[in-house]
Amino acid sequence: MKIATFNDHRVGVVQGDQIWDVTFLLPAALDQLPQQRMNWLIAHWAQMGPRLADARTQCLPLASVALLAPNPAPPHVFAAPANYRKHIGELGSRAVTKGGRTAREQGFFLMAPGSISGPGSPIRVPRDSVRRFDHESELAVIIGRAGRNIPREEAMSYVFGYSCLIDATMRIEKDSHEEERSMRKSFETFTPIGPYIVTADEVPDPGRLRNRLWVNGQLKQDANTGEMIVGVAELIELVSSVLPIQPGDIIASGTPEGVGPFGPGDELRIEIESVGTMSLSVQECDARSPRPF
Ligand code: MN
Repeated sequence: MKIATFNDHRVGVVQGDQIWDVTFLLPAALDQLPQQRMNWLIAHWAQMGPRLADARTQCLPLASVALLAPNPAPPHVFAAPANYRKHIGELGSRAVTKGGRTAREQGFFLMAPGSISGPGSPIRVPRDSVRRFDHESELAVIIGRAGRNIPREEAMSYVFGYSCLIDATMRIEKDSHEEERSMRKSFETFTPIGPYIVTADEVPDPGRLRNRLWVNGQLKQDANTGEMIVGVAELIELVSSVLPIQPGDIIASGTPEGVGPFGPGDELRIEIESVGTMSLSVQECDARSPRPF
């Protein structure tokens, strides 16, 4: 099943070029917290999944709605650094992870949930910036149920589904000041996700998916998730060894080689096999900062 969030945080099931509005099935109390609808739905999937499958009363053309981030308010966004072998080293002095280290040695980092945006929103980079902005094409793993200290052998049963995620990054220039990674990865709109969540039953092996990204129609990243150093199950084991994972959490599983710059006016397109495709424009925004972006 393909589940989307659209318009004013309504929830829908995507089928071909249609979307079935299933918001009426959710508790009315969630009308006060519409951004939490998807977290609630994921947490109650055992009961709600079959009801969604049968809810075929309110249909809209997919093209007529504004898709938002499928989970607009994940409790956590975890991210794997240096998780594809060929990507390691390609950033040279701009790399944050020390030479030769991978996600296995470094563990994960956090991206702020507030940096999440959806397929209908542009990525907005600070105006007149001297920074380089890079695209990272990533498979997003959506967690389905709470857990702590999950062994990798059991980890896949904690996956709710998958989505496409671009980890937009503003690089720090060589010989520049030092700066925490969270600031550069968590700029508003720098974590677009979508176009919907594909439930795990439709993606039998997340370790065999082509992962591609284009800039202005030119293919820049083209790899397979099978090249990930730390796979999905081990990422869940790692994250849950530190803190409880929660329904709706997102794990950005890392980017392959081909990371490169983008700027205002560009069009980014990400496609992950069996998961979906999403196109985003890039615009400028006014940014106030006590330090140069
Ligand atoms: Mn990344």
